[in-house]
Amino acid sequence: MTQVVMNKQKTIALIAHDHQKEDLVEWCVRNQEELKKHFLCGTGTTSKMIAEATGLPVKPYKSGPLGGDQQIGARIAEGEIDMMIFFWDPLEAQPHDPDIRALLRIAVVYDIPVATNRATADFMISSCYMDREYSHELLDFQTTLAEETEKILKSER
Ligand code: PGA
Repeated sequence: MTQVVMNKQKTIALIAHDHQKEDLVEWCVRNQEELKKHFLCGTGTTSKMIAEATGLPVKPYKSGPLGGDQQIGARIAEGEIDMMIFFWDPLEAQPHDPDIRALLRIAVVYDIPVATNRATADFMISSCYMDREYSHELLDFQTTLAEETEKILKSER
């Protein structure tokens, strides 16, 4: 296992599908006092709308259908994004569904908190861990793979 420490100041990714954007923007406005203590980023259109409504800096990645989800997934894998608020649309299929699945999967692999609706986002933002360091353990896939390879090699000798 590898110990990973999340800083007091978090990097939060914000994503909302079209029918959910208004909801996420409104949530960000309501929680801007808390959000301004952290670093924000998001997919293209979502980040632009949140930055305009709150006046907070939000680092934009590409729009979701153009690869934004994949960019955010890569940042999570690199340990650069600590948590994600992702209001995905439960009622409409998206052209980039495979990217969305991949993003949600990688968020689980790296054990980052993910809120996919308002209630979870409310619980997340009011967590005591928002104002302090949080340390968690990740399965060290590298070591596991190396160990497995070693076992196989030994059994073949
Ligand atoms: P957008 O991307 O913020 O650029 O609209 C989100 C999405 O639709 O996946």
